[in-house]
Amino acid sequence: MARKRLGEVLQELGYLSEDQLEVALEVQKLNGKSLGSLLVDLSFVSPQELAQAIAHQAGKEFVDLSVYSPSLEALKIIDKNTARQLEILPLDIDGSKVKVVVSDPFNVNIVDLIKRRTNLEVEILVSDRESILRSIEIYYEQLTKPIEEVVKELIQSSLKGEADVPKLVDAFLNHAIIDRATDIHISPETVASHVFYRIDGVLHHYYSFPKDIHPSIVSRIKILGGMDISEQRLPQDGGFTYTFLGEGYDVRVSTVPTTYGENVVMRMLPKNLSLFNLRNLGFEEDTLRDFEEIITKPYGMVLVTGPTGSGKTTTLYATLRRINFLKKNILTVEDPVEYKFPFIKQTQVNEKAGYTFATAIRHFLRQDPDVILVGEIRDEETAEMAVRAAITGHLVLSTLHTNDAVSTIPRLIDLKVKEYMVASGVLAISAQRLIRKICPFCKYTLKVSRKELERYGFTQEMLDRFKVGEEIEISRGRGCEHCKGTGYLGRVAVVELLKLDEEIGDMVVRGYPPLAISQRAREKGMRLLKEDGLLKVLRGITTPEEVRRVVG
Ligand SMILES: [Zn+2]
Repeated sequence: MARKRLGEVLQELGYLSEDQLEVALEVQKLNGKSLGSLLVDLSFVSPQELAQAIAHQAGKEFVDLSVYSPSLEALKIIDKNTARQLEILPLDIDGSKVKVVVSDPFNVNIVDLIKRRTNLEVEILVSDRESILRSIEIYYEQLTKPIEEVVKELIQSSLKGEADVPKLVDAFLNHAIIDRATDIHISPETVASHVFYRIDGVLHHYYSFPKDIHPSIVSRIKILGGMDISEQRLPQDGGFTYTFLGEGYDVRVSTVPTTYGENVVMRMLPKNLSLFNLRNLGFEEDTLRDFEEIITKPYGMVLVTGPTGSGKTTTLYATLRRINFLKKNILTVEDPVEYKFPFIKQTQVNEKAGYTFATAIRHFLRQDPDVILVGEIRDEETAEMAVRAAITGHLVLSTLHTNDAVSTIPRLIDLKVKEYMVASGVLAISAQRLIRKICPFCKYTLKVSRKELERYGFTQEMLDRFKVGEEIEISRGRGCEHCKGTGYLGRVAVVELLKLDEEIGDMVVRGYPPLAISQRAREKGMRLLKEDGLLKVLRGITTPEEVRRVVG
């Protein structure tokens, strides 16, 4: 079977436009480089996106190594030097088969070589070279000396009065990176202080240490964060760049004085944000089709809503990727700019200097824009400017903090946007949440009754809508090394897409209550967040308890 061309696959995945491909092929004539590396050089696609396309091309599975980590048993099948040399990462052993991650799936020699060395069947998975090398460095280290042991030894010596505070703080940070935590909480309580990590949106207790070293730990973190160590009665913010195995990680620090001492939260800013694909993110095919049709419109507003940490920025970035930036002038105002794109004019809010979301829109209008991305609408002025831009011939993308799609309408009206402006300006509102996916390494299926699903808050109407019978099959995770016993690994979005067509717009103008609008939209095919969650339960992606935890 003939291999699909790389450019074609990248286009299908929505990472590359026809025009970009033409530009790249043009440049290729000048320097003769391979198309893949050229596209990365031009910043048209990220290394991860390229790897995903190569995986497609080879008919292999792509692995996001910022989510998946290898089992120690798998790592043992080859030594670190060989792994480095061949640029391969053993991921998992399943019976007589080893799963190995490579960057070039067309290199058959590697498969033969691993087979000969291990006497195991080999299954090839694909990721980008950089992530593979990074994982080799991180996890082989774990094989020689697990980070848990390092931390526990440091806590032990502090009990003997020999605390090495800088080392202990480093160890907390290292463990957070290894376990891909997004936040580290260091919380003083009555008898001890506790360290929690937030992973995939859920807090986990990791360590306890003696309270007498809590103040010196806080001071150490404050010094790193460029904060005032003598001030202990007021909250403070700071930040620093932490280097682990040669890579820099941006850390934001916040301290708040509590009754038992200063509580510290360190947020690890995401490094790997570079797979901007709405399908990967969890958009179902029908929602994706609708959404993509909407964003090809020349003007109007598309709003993505949800609480902090619900993946709104990723959705906006993935949306930008679908817009042809060689044919459209795109300007953004963000707080902060989290990821840089070529040919898109990105700017960052600077409240102190008077550069706000609203002033940005005003200036953008004189820059001959086609598309304007406004990081967030949180005040009347921004709301008015954004809607005005949308009805005067621009595509405006933005976010709002509302719980579901339909409650965004009264929120906009609260912000003094007139009903008819909402109806004529807003094309669609997409509400979303992130839910944890079942770990693929320990997933199993089981039968449950319809009655049991009802206990998780799925109504008869919802169950009927998806034709759930008396008994159905769902999946769960048993808990394993890869998912740290939780049964979950990585997250996807559940999405509720409300399209403001003529009829719905008319209901808005006539002042119908949100519930009535929601009901009518559902009749027209909209799925509520809970229903999109149910769909993902039925498809074995997540569990009913996870949907209830996140969506309610
Ligand atoms: Zn697992």
